[in-house]
Amino acid sequence: MSTPTMIQSGRDEAALHELSITQSVVDAVCERAAGRTVHSVKVEVGALTAVVPEAMRFCFDLAVEGTVAQGARLDIVARPGVAHCGDCDTDIVLDDLILLCACGSADVRVTSGRELRILSMEVG
Ligand SMILES: [Zn+2]
Repeated sequence: MSTPTMIQSGRDEAALHELSITQSVVDAVCERAAGRTVHSVKVEVGALTAVVPEAMRFCFDLAVEGTVAQGARLDIVARPGVAHCGDCDTDIVLDDLILLCACGSADVRVTSGRELRILSMEVG
């Protein structure tokens, strides 16, 4: 008896995450290019978006195929995750999504790292 194929590995899920995000970036870029050729795209990616730059680069090459952005260079500007602790009043750098200060407090507010936007694009 066979069970339906399911994506279970974390790696595949991550790739799907980047693929859908990258696809919307490419859609936006192509729309703005309005028929012109896109040479490069610069995106800002926060550490807390769970987007792996290398995976995004790979997905970008797939997503631009057959569009005006085909062959375009993708520049990724990585932003670290930063949060502010309300208890000890310090800024902490976040490497992952665990929002806990070294002082043990969970009263932390993310101030940077959730960015995911197109900074610029080169067309013509
Ligand atoms: Zn603290």
